[in-house]
Amino acid sequence: MDAFSPSPAAGLRPLTVRMATPRGFCAGVDRAIQIVERAIEKFGAPVYVRHEIVHNKHVVDRLKSLGAVFVKDLDECPDDRPVVFSAHGVPKSVPATARARELMFLDATCPLVSKVHVEAERHHANGRHIILIGHAGHPEVVGTLGQLPQGAISLVETVEDAESFQRPGDRPLAYATQTTLSLDDTSEILRVLKRRFPELPDPHKEDICYATTNRQEAVKQLANGSGLVLVVGSKNSSNSVRLVEVALRAGAGNAQLIDDASQIDWSWLDGVSTVGVTAGASAPEPLVQAVVQALQARFDVTLADDPGEQETVTFKLPRALTV
Ligand code: SF4
Repeated sequence: MDAFSPSPAAGLRPLTVRMATPRGFCAGVDRAIQIVERAIEKFGAPVYVRHEIVHNKHVVDRLKSLGAVFVKDLDECPDDRPVVFSAHGVPKSVPATARARELMFLDATCPLVSKVHVEAERHHANGRHIILIGHAGHPEVVGTLGQLPQGAISLVETVEDAESFQRPGDRPLAYATQTTLSLDDTSEILRVLKRRFPELPDPHKEDICYATTNRQEAVKQLANGSGLVLVVGSKNSSNSVRLVEVALRAGAGNAQLIDDASQIDWSWLDGVSTVGVTAGASAPEPLVQAVVQALQARFDVTLADDPGEQETVTFKLPRALTV
């Protein structure tokens, strides 16, 4: 650019854009996507995937274009093609059915969800009744409930549920949580349960995973002082929806969930001088960068990376894909 060229930002209104750290993909999502990609490479298309592999429209659409076929249940899968189970985990009946049909299956359940399953089984084996804190109908909750016989786990969704929960008989209690809940809501529910059932372990042992924790802490930092927080993620992504709630509760003037830049309503920016940008654990970074570019096209943007937790967690792929 020569000295006489106007600045690209000439005439544009100044806007500070603060980027959350960390944001976007977690180790469990990264592993699940790699499992589908590698399965297609190794076995050819189509590879069937039971349920959305992770809750992100763009990820699902890209995998479809590579040869993944997404189905709701195993009865939609032919006997001669591999099937992948999603990162959210599945009830025990699903791998059992796959084995009975001699299907080739790959389990993309996040190891941190599997850990919750193992703990639930341990509590059950020790004669405890389990309280599961989570959202009814979410695939992770369906998967965790499906690890044990019916009636072994009671689902508690809210503080009101925690107040009205009735212990079945005099069995000792234990609890587990969905990995993608709001830390603050969960502490509140646990506080009530602990008051009613003091023998429950202290409420700092919830199963909310590192990625959910770090993204919620990062958005809290951003929210204070941001007139708007944009959360890149899909509507059915539990951890992305939680980021919007956490941002609003932490003081953001407005917080909106968007699948991508095309969903920005530019009137949200009216009167806003600072925008925070983050992404749920299933949202790809290129979508975040496209949001930044859309902001840069309309404003004189000063970009700032918020300091935050550096994540180094990685999970191994199943052996069937590495040998
Ligand atoms: S959000 Fe947490 S539990 Fe879910 S896939 Fe990512 S790391 Fe695993």
